[in-house]
Amino acid sequence: MNRLITTIILDDSEESISVILSELSKGNFTLSYKVARTLLEFEKLLKEKEWDLIISNRDIDKIRSDKALKIYNSLKLDVPFIVISEMINKELLLNYYNLGANDFIVRTSIFRFLPVVDRELKNAENVKKVKQSLAILKHVDSMVIVCERDGSVSYASPSVEKMLGYKVEEVMGDNWWKVTYENEKEADRVRNAIRNYDFDDIKQDFSEISRRKIKTKSGEYKWIEWQVSKGINKTIISVGIDSTDRIRAEKELQKAKTYAEETLKIKNDFLANMSHEIRTPMNAVIGFTDLLLETELTEEQRLHLETMKTSGNILLSLINNILDLSKLESNKLEIENIPFNFSKTVTEVVNLMTLKAKEKNIDLELVLDKNIPKLLNGDPTRLSQILLNLIGNAVKFTHKGYVRVSVSSLKQTPEDVDLEIVVEDTGIGIVSNKINTVFGAFTQAKSDTSRIYGGTGLGLTIVKKLVNLLNGKIFVKSVFGKGSTFTIQMNFKIGTSKETVAKPKTVEVAKRKALHLNILVVEDNKINQLLAKTRLERWECNVDMANNGIEAVKLVQKNPVYNIILMDIQMPVMDGFEATKIIKNDLSDEAAKIPIVAMTAHASKKEILRLKDAGMVDYIFKPFDVDDLYDKLIKYSLSH
Ligand code: ADP
Repeated sequence: MNRLITTIILDDSEESISVILSELSKGNFTLSYKVARTLLEFEKLLKEKEWDLIISNRDIDKIRSDKALKIYNSLKLDVPFIVISEMINKELLLNYYNLGANDFIVRTSIFRFLPVVDRELKNAENVKKVKQSLAILKHVDSMVIVCERDGSVSYASPSVEKMLGYKVEEVMGDNWWKVTYENEKEADRVRNAIRNYDFDDIKQDFSEISRRKIKTKSGEYKWIEWQVSKGINKTIISVGIDSTDRIRAEKELQKAKTYAEETLKIKNDFLANMSHEIRTPMNAVIGFTDLLLETELTEEQRLHLETMKTSGNILLSLINNILDLSKLESNKLEIENIPFNFSKTVTEVVNLMTLKAKEKNIDLELVLDKNIPKLLNGDPTRLSQILLNLIGNAVKFTHKGYVRVSVSSLKQTPEDVDLEIVVEDTGIGIVSNKINTVFGAFTQAKSDTSRIYGGTGLGLTIVKKLVNLLNGKIFVKSVFGKGSTFTIQMNFKIGTSKETVAKPKTVEVAKRKALHLNILVVEDNKINQLLAKTRLERWECNVDMANNGIEAVKLVQKNPVYNIILMDIQMPVMDGFEATKIIKNDLSDEAAKIPIVAMTAHASKKEILRLKDAGMVDYIFKPFDVDDLYDKLIKYSLSH
């Protein structure tokens, strides 16, 4: 649609009006006009609304265009004012231009009329745009600075005063760089960066936003975020926004975040230390209970000791859970990615739970999809932990019926496989309004759960975090009174047979006969020393004890007769790594031959590498599993 042009025609000759109208009707716009026949009418119309164009006939006596122009000027309007006249001379022309007319057309050259109207309308439009831009620049909370190619400021928007306190002229030319930067070098650096900004090179009209500290007139600093864009004639336009408040808020937020993180760290460190501290005596309780159970006992004594051992194990698993959770929360839990036999791992976990299920007279079934590749890459320990929790819960909360573990392959490529692991039970189920909270820490579906079934509500929290860490998903569906189904979906890369399955082979031997070995135990904790000594002496071994690495080195140096050394890792004075390195490298050949097995509470991939690096052959966990200790003594001991 054509643009609508509202026009006042100031004229009282019908003939002249019709000529004007006929000319205007050829224009590329839709005309809407009013005729003013007197100056009074003209003034009234001017005040009535905004107009796009004024055409005035100079030759009508009653209406002298110069008077009309004065009225028009007094109203400070930007509407194009074009005068038409029969005659013209230089004086007249000058007079009208001085009064503010935009152009002067002689009737004999009326052909000029329309082009002049077009031009003036276009100019008026541009002026309006510029004024609008200036008005915007004045009122927005950003400032515009235009720099010439040499970096000097050739334009600064009025908002500079509002934002920085400087008058526009105070920042023009090179002043900008002197007054707004305290550091001359920094000013030169920024100026050069602006000067060298090559828009053609990066094929983009805007730069990245950069943040700079700008000195205000009052001497305070403000953070201004600048975006540089390409101006005309190789100038550079910088638009700056005051982000002092936001940056201050960001800094406050960062402070609060750091504080929260530190608090979390303190909590996690505390939990880690506490559980470590509790674990050591707990190990002793379990270890000595084990030793006592191997002696001759009355039925009643045996029952009490077995209860003690079960309680000890529950406490230990609770402590391990807390430790895992604190590691998970501080992102310190290391995840392994090694080839492992998937079906075997799942079967082992299910087998572990079979006895419990039998005791409760419920079926524990395992359904494995035949298409699951044998070797997968992943973390078998964490997978077992997840399954043990889910199957453990299912068995715990089921009194009749079955628990079914099924694994199916959802999608498979030569490289990877999406597996779905479902643990389904016909147990007590979970009430619908609690179903979303079971994954939360220390939450149980009912307040009497802990009393009836035990547990702390940490298991599923850890499961969910572990599943997330392994990039899987876990869902739960349950009908109260009917049963629950926990589903895990997880992607595994398929392991290749070239990679060896990382599980040391255990040596098959007739268990627990006298070993007659010379063993050096390096351990700083007195209770653990006693536990190890008693345990090893049961197997008729000769045990020497060292309280730290230095004592161990001295003993080996004096008498390198040991068949094996069991070496704690963390010890005061000299730790296990250091002591092992010295024994392996700096003593006699005989000493270097003695196999050293580490005793450790946790064996991350990094730690295993470190102890192998130091020269140790293997590790055993503290508290040691009696069978594992026995196997490793047989496997590694040197025969003299
Ligand atoms: P815990 O078993 O130590 O209480 P979990 O985090 O493993 O803690 O489980 C949280 C709660 O979720 C349980 O206390 C129980 O109320 C509910 N729950 C978990 N698994 C099942 C299940 N298979 N059947 C019924 N309720 C379950």
